[in-house]
Amino acid sequence: MRYLSLVIFIMLCLLSCQGEQRSSNNAAKAITVSNAPLQAGDVINRIKEQVTCDWSEKTVDTYKSGNEESSITGIATTFLATYDVLKRAQAAGLNMVITHEPTYYNHLDEISFFEEDPVFQKKRDFIRDNKMVVFRFHDHWHRTQPDGILLGMNERLGWKEYEIRPNDLIFELPTQSLQSIADYLQQHFQATSVRVVGPRDMEVSKVGFSMGSPGSQAQIEILRMDEVEVLIGGETHEWETVEYVRDAQAQGRKKALILIGHANSEEAGMEYCAEWLQGFISEVPVQFIPAGDPFWTPEAAK
Ligand SMILES: [Zn+2]
Repeated sequence: MRYLSLVIFIMLCLLSCQGEQRSSNNAAKAITVSNAPLQAGDVINRIKEQVTCDWSEKTVDTYKSGNEESSITGIATTFLATYDVLKRAQAAGLNMVITHEPTYYNHLDEISFFEEDPVFQKKRDFIRDNKMVVFRFHDHWHRTQPDGILLGMNERLGWKEYEIRPNDLIFELPTQSLQSIADYLQQHFQATSVRVVGPRDMEVSKVGFSMGSPGSQAQIEILRMDEVEVLIGGETHEWETVEYVRDAQAQGRKKALILIGHANSEEAGMEYCAEWLQGFISEVPVQFIPAGDPFWTPEAAK
């Protein structure tokens, strides 16, 4: 009897092992895995296949360091490849950094102005000495449908139940004071420099969210909408959008502005980017590294 139970036990074990084997085989089928080491070009080619838009010739989405033949040990996604983010990625064994914003302090990552600059030099040398690959993923992450940054931010904002139109970042919230919305954003994003234009006690419900720094005209177009009383944005030219809102208020219009900082307004989109990449890159670890909010204010530092 004891012998029979042992045989049954062994048979059950064998069956369950087969089951595991079968499910892992199925999982492996979904993604093409080759034994050759993953190269940066493989990563970028797969990104090009996955985005819904055509890949533009004229784009800032290019290698800032390394090239398509660079071997990849791991991938970090981030809002911006800061010196600190690069160090953390390198320490974690992630030698490819996919950054939304520029590495070298200007949109096109032009370096001629910085050639003799010690801050630039130290960053460039760190990247070079550690054989890191830096690739910018900005234009096409916004152009793919739906916009990748928008998807991540929509998730992060936590207001989906109040969305007026799908994936438009226009919300109708329960009526509350402008102060209450600003407080929510400060706490929710752990933002250290939320700035508000408009009376604290202004009763509002209609909110539009604008990512990053799209320019004043794009921000003012949202403010003009009847469905928007408050524009929440990343950053803006203070002498343009801010003054438009100040004049609108002086004319008795119900318009306000809350700026939460560029990083806060886009970072969750690069967190989502790591998740998206994991869907078609399985050979190496893919991880999001936050750059964080660079500011502090005397009030917020209390
Ligand atoms: Zn952006």
